[in-house]
This record gives sequence, structure tokens and C-alpha cells, in this order.
Amino acid sequence: MYQVEQLIGGEWGIGGTAGELVVADPADGRPVTRAPVASDGDVDAAVKTARQRASQWARTAPADRAAALARAADAVAADAERLALLTTQEMGRPLEESRAGVAAGVATLRQYAELGPLHRGRSLAGDDGAVDLMVHQPRGVVAVITPWNDPVAVSCGLLGAALVTGNTVVYKPSERTPGTGHALARLLAGELPAGVLNLLSGGGRVGARLAGQDVDVVAHVGSTATGRSIAAACARTGAKAVLENGGSDPLIVDADVDPYWAAEQVAVGAFSNAGQICTAVERVYVHRAVAASLLEALVGRAAQLRVGPGTDPKTQMGPLVDLAHRDLVHGKVTDAVRRGARLLCGGTVPPGPGSFYPPTVLADCADDMPLLREETFGPVAPVVEVDTFDEALARAGRSPYGLAATVLTGSMAHAQRAWRELPVGTVKVNAVFGGAPGGAAHPRRGSGHGFGYGPELLDELTVTKVVHLRPAAALAPERS
Ligand code: NAD
Repeated sequence: MYQVEQLIGGEWGIGGTAGELVVADPADGRPVTRAPVASDGDVDAAVKTARQRASQWARTAPADRAAALARAADAVAADAERLALLTTQEMGRPLEESRAGVAAGVATLRQYAELGPLHRGRSLAGDDGAVDLMVHQPRGVVAVITPWNDPVAVSCGLLGAALVTGNTVVYKPSERTPGTGHALARLLAGELPAGVLNLLSGGGRVGARLAGQDVDVVAHVGSTATGRSIAAACARTGAKAVLENGGSDPLIVDADVDPYWAAEQVAVGAFSNAGQICTAVERVYVHRAVAASLLEALVGRAAQLRVGPGTDPKTQMGPLVDLAHRDLVHGKVTDAVRRGARLLCGGTVPPGPGSFYPPTVLADCADDMPLLREETFGPVAPVVEVDTFDEALARAGRSPYGLAATVLTGSMAHAQRAWRELPVGTVKVNAVFGGAPGGAAHPRRGSGHGFGYGPELLDELTVTKVVHLRPAAALAPERS
């Protein structure tokens, strides 16, 4: 079994006396990872160490910090297969997808290694005799608190940006993927001075303790409920909160699109990673003209998906992360059926070990069902028929979340209206996933705030200072 150790002040294996976590493989229930739980004292010690090391790391030349990050990226790339396997064993996704998650993490570390030294301030047009500057400085100590659904890619983004800008870090990966977080931290810490990166292990209680400590930023990717409680903790301490949280993304299917192609887009959006993606499709608004064909094609696509253990190369969809999460997903589906949704496929808990759940399609759904109103995070496609594009746009926009949306349409006018009017951070037209590198958006409402990724994350994790620099007055002749 994989054994996790904490890292505080450069010392591995320290603390963790507040209990133990055992992570079971969601494909078969076998234990895969054993992790200690940080005590309050460990959290305080990790923050204290990070604070003590902050000024030295901040004074390290940006090029040297970037070089360390580039070496760390190489180390992660060299150990990619082990990280991918650990990810799959801990949270279930197909190994090929875990490999892609690790590759994305390596690419992000390399990007931040390049961007860090280029994160320049600017000079201002001041008096002739003065120099006026705006400069970025590290914020100090960043608490990085991450989820399990794409553990390497998400962690690499926050860790890379925080470290390259000269912050020290206390990293608390998800209690559902502590082995993956530990393996990643070991590779990164190997290239950094002691105490610059610290690792705590444990669940929400440890995260809450960390978020309430003397840190300068809490960077959290995770659920909206957690993000809100972190925002409240930051309001008390004065720390900055950068929050990338949940979503209930809509996908609109216009009257003029090929329903079979649209069904494929819905299936990719709703069933990839068993629906456990922040920007998974969670609500489908389809024009009545193409609804019947779309539903038929979507059910066909769901039936073709090969569900199985993530380690089987034939598997296209793995299990849900654990039994507790499967209960939540299934509860939402059965509740929707009770409220009048029509179950077209899936929707039943399969017998046997593991936390598998079938790809599920429901028709006749309504916006006020918790299945649509809240984030489900499962392989479920709830479909709503609409009479007009206007109706689809209005209903898609009415959500407590504002992460992303997809619109499938042949009409340029509809595409233009969609990207202008949808109150979300990211709008994708005619492709459910994808986008140019370097894009970053502000999530809205319950989906968080701040830039949680992209070049702008470097701004979030630094403070900007204005400097006015004049030579001292020359000594007056009578005093010289
Ligand atoms: P979660 O918020 O429950 O857990 C995430 C992290 O927060 C974990 O490390 C957890 O231990 C910690 N935590 C839990 N309670 C805490 C508290 N009170 N104070 C401080 N830390 C606490 O989320 P999850 O279930 O691990 O992840 C799934 C969620 O993450 C989904 O909502 C998904 O949409 C979201 N997510 C969002 C993005 C994005 O970019 N917007 C990306 C990936 C995942």
C-alpha cells in the first residue's frame, strides 16, 4: 500500500498524529493508500516554517526560481507513469486520461517556469529626475488546497504559479488522492530549498485549519460550499481567496444542428471522467425540432461506452470516486425521476464491487430539479426541450453557478448572442471542450472568483507596488 508522509520545513515523515486515512480503489474497494492526518500543531508548524522561509525565497532571483520549477517539471515528466497509475488507483479514471492529466500538469509547470521571469512590472512616465515603477512582489505564504478529480494538473497550476512568483507554499491535496499529492510534492520538493514547499495530509478539517491561519493567499480549487467557507475564513484573517469552484454547465442545441453530432458532443461533455469535471455538461437545452433524434442518439452513445476499471486499456469510463459520491449522484437521479423526469438509460446502481455508475440520460427535466440546479458531478445528461433559442439562452443563464457553457448552432447571430449574453466565465461554440492555450476567465457567482489558472494567476499571487525613486538632494554649498 502507498504510504503518504507529510513534509514540514524540509523534513519528511513529520507529524500526522491526528489519525489515519485509507483510500480504497474505487474500481474494487481494495485499499491503495494510507495517509496520516495532520494535527492542528502540524498545520501551525507548516505555516510558521513557510513564513520563516518566505523572505529568502522571495529574494531568490526569478530566473533561479524558474530553473528550479523547470527541473521539477522534468522530474514529474520522468515519473509520469507512476503518477498516472496512482491517480487511477485512487480516483478511478481511465489510465489514458490520468496520463493526459499528468502531461497537462508538466506542461503547466513548464509554462510557469517560462512565464515567471517574464512577469514584469512597468515603468511610469514621471518627472525627469525620478524613476517611477510598478513592480510585482510575492504575497508571502500561499495555502494551496486542491480536489481529487484531476489532481496532478490542478495542483501543478497553483503550485507552479505560487512558487515561481516567489511565494512559499503549504499544500493540502485532497484526502481522496493523498498518494498522488504526496508523489507530486516529493518530486517538486526535491528541486526546492527546504521549507519552500510544505505538504499536509488530511481532509476538510485540516483544510479549514490551514485556511484560517496566518497565510497571505488561500488558493482553492474545489466545491462551492468549501470555497464559501474559505472566503469567510479569509474575510476574518485578511488573506486573499482565489477560488475555482463548482459548476452546472449548460449545453444548448439549436434547431439547425445535426442531432447525431450534437449527441456526441453531449456524451463527451457529460460522461468524460464519469462527469467528474468542473466544466462537465450538467444541463442540456435542446430545441424541440431535434430533441427526439438527439435523445435517441445519446442513448445509443451511452450504451456503447465501455465502463470498467481505469487500469483496463479498453475502459472508456471508470467508476465514480467512491461509494459516498455514488450515493449522492444516484440520489439526485432518483429524485429527478420522482419529480417527473423520464429515465431513458442508466440510473441504476450496478451489483458488484467498486463505485461504478452507468452513463445516464433523462428527458423531460426541469430547471428547479436539484439534478440541474446543483452540481451533480456524475455521468448524467439531463435533457430539457425548449421551443426557441431565446428560451434556451435565458434558462441556461439562470443558475447559481457561472463557470462555462457550450452552444451548438449553425447561426452566427445565435453564436454572437450566446457569448455576449451567457453569464459565465467560458463560452464554447460548436465544441464542448477545447480552447487556445493561455486563456483564463473569471468564474462567476458560486463558481468562484479570481483567475485560478493561466498567465493572470501570476497577478493574483503577487502584490503590485508603486515605487517613486529620486536622488537625494545635494548638500548645500555652505554645509559642504
Ligand atoms: P472539496 O471542496 O470538497 O475539496 C477540495 C479541497 O478542499 C480538499 O483538499 C478538501 O480537503 C478541502 N476542504 C474541504 N473542506 C474544507 C474547508 N472547510 N476548508 C478548507 N478546505 C476544505 O471539493 P472536491 O470534492 O475535492 O472536488 C470537487 C469539486 O471541485 C467540484 O465542485 C468541482 O466542480 C470542483 N472543481 C473545480 C474546478 C475549477 O477549475 N473550477 C476544477 C476542478 C474541480
